[in-house]
Amino acid sequence: MEFSILADSFNKMESTRKRLELTQYLVELFEKTPHEVISKIVYLLQGKLRPDFEGIELGVAEKLAIRAISKSSGIPIKKIEDEYRKGGDLGHAASVILEQKTQTTFLVEDITVERVYETLFKIANLEGSRSQDMKMKYISSLLNDANPLEASFILKILLGTLRLGIAENTVMDALAIAFSGSKENRKILEHAYNVSSDLGKVAETIATSKLEGVEKFEVILFNPIRPMLADRVKSEDEAVEKMGNEFAAEYKLDGERVQLHVEGEKVVLFSRSLENISSYYPDIIEKIPKAIQAENAILEAEAVAINENTGEFLPFQELMHRRRKYKIEKAVTQYPITVNFFDILYCNGKSCLQMDYKSRRDKLEKIVKEDDYAKHIPMAIVKNSNDIEDFLENSINSGSEGLMLKMLDKPYQAGSRGNYWLKLKREYRNELGDSLDLVVIGGFFGKGRRTGNYGTLLLATYDEDQDTFTSICKVGTGFSDEDLDQLYQILNPKVTIKKNPRIDSEMEADVWFEPELVIEAVASEITLSPIHKAARDTIRKDAGLALRFPKFTGKIRVEKAAEDASTNEEVITLFKGQKKVAHDKNLI
Ligand code: ATP
Repeated sequence: MEFSILADSFNKMESTRKRLELTQYLVELFEKTPHEVISKIVYLLQGKLRPDFEGIELGVAEKLAIRAISKSSGIPIKKIEDEYRKGGDLGHAASVILEQKTQTTFLVEDITVERVYETLFKIANLEGSRSQDMKMKYISSLLNDANPLEASFILKILLGTLRLGIAENTVMDALAIAFSGSKENRKILEHAYNVSSDLGKVAETIATSKLEGVEKFEVILFNPIRPMLADRVKSEDEAVEKMGNEFAAEYKLDGERVQLHVEGEKVVLFSRSLENISSYYPDIIEKIPKAIQAENAILEAEAVAINENTGEFLPFQELMHRRRKYKIEKAVTQYPITVNFFDILYCNGKSCLQMDYKSRRDKLEKIVKEDDYAKHIPMAIVKNSNDIEDFLENSINSGSEGLMLKMLDKPYQAGSRGNYWLKLKREYRNELGDSLDLVVIGGFFGKGRRTGNYGTLLLATYDEDQDTFTSICKVGTGFSDEDLDQLYQILNPKVTIKKNPRIDSEMEADVWFEPELVIEAVASEITLSPIHKAARDTIRKDAGLALRFPKFTGKIRVEKAAEDASTNEEVITLFKGQKKVAHDKNLI
């Protein structure tokens, strides 16, 4: 397939943020795509080469790309850098530069999607001392044969700056329309995506074997399943109202969610955002096979740091010490953990997703043999508010953050947040009723003791419809000096010359960051705001929502991707909730 078809499509998609138009462009593109290329197209349009869980990173630095552009165009590096500074987008700068190309090249080879994809794949896999030279050679050979528009998109993919604003749901809508004639069938695709986490594979299946093929999608060992999530409740009474007469309560431990895929001695671990995190937990890899009484299994657990002497659970922050590439063995002994199992999703070659909670819990207790390291998460069957309160107190006393409440007769709903699971946290009883996970989008330099650090951060929620990050508040309290140093280390490499187009903020920051880091904040209230962009125009025209008196809780949510941050939808619910409370108390 000619790469120019893809470049033209990308160009059209870049010019709109409207979901319906994007869907239409995607449908047209899919209809022109040969079936054997469709998975590649689906990865490329998300700026990837393979599904996230395979961890394939292109990792090309701007400097190297600039050298490659210079090599293939004959234009000096300095001039390319100047052009880049003007717009802050190297892909676009390259297309302008290549228009003025001084070197004549003969188009020796056609640029096809297959060739671009394979070359990018080779680049991603290069390692070692000569890898930089080889990367440059591959990039300039592609640029030699590409027209300016094609070159700009090749570079954007390479640098990770392709932002078409296409949410996964939009891709699934378009696949359903293109290959089954109706958007209604997206549900079937969603199920396949939720159990495989591989949108490319879903696309290939619907293109080649239609809906029947997609319906047969099965859980695959070592391919992560998208996690089931919980809705929040503020009180025991609200929980009983929503859950009915009898349900399960489990400790909500404050650690890292881990999905374990186990077969014999082979163990692969995935995080909540489906990143392969096996290297952070060599102890799990070593110890868990002994505890599993099955040929193979997919299990979910919370890995929690513990005080070795007392067995008490320690806060999530302690696990941060494991987020390192080197000397991980030292971190393993210094910061011991236990693995606390709460679900089983697959066992002895069969999916358990359709089994109800009660049967899954029974199976889990049979399959996982408890020892000092592997545990079953404490669970009790509860019937009323008193039972919940009792168990909540036990859970808090043991160092966990609250309870998860689960319906006994419901299946595991991969990839969705619903009412079958509820979470009741201690801190939900604060003024706002909940903490929020927000994306750091901008920074302001500190004064006084904070000079040299970012003293205040600009935070955003995630707008699922637009696939953007909308500003919601500035936060400058709750940071210890240590937090500020740590945040500076993490944020400094994320500074960008120009504000990322997915950031939606009227407020100007001293520096803009790539929207990647998620931190937790609490606030006293949500108010209407003329400046902030979160949920703009939904409650009132020309007003967004903002947090009043926001405070950093000390939690950096490394396990969350920016798209897992609190959404505008959630903030609207909290805003309406607080109005209802005020109303009930006759305050308004
Ligand atoms: P939070 O910000 O509360 O951690 P989240 O958005 O990460 O929420 P939720 O589904 O809302 O995800 O809350 C569930 C999280 O709580 C899980 O991701 C998991 O890490 C953790 N957890 C702790 N104990 C349990 C348990 N018993 N069952 C399920 N999840 C648990």
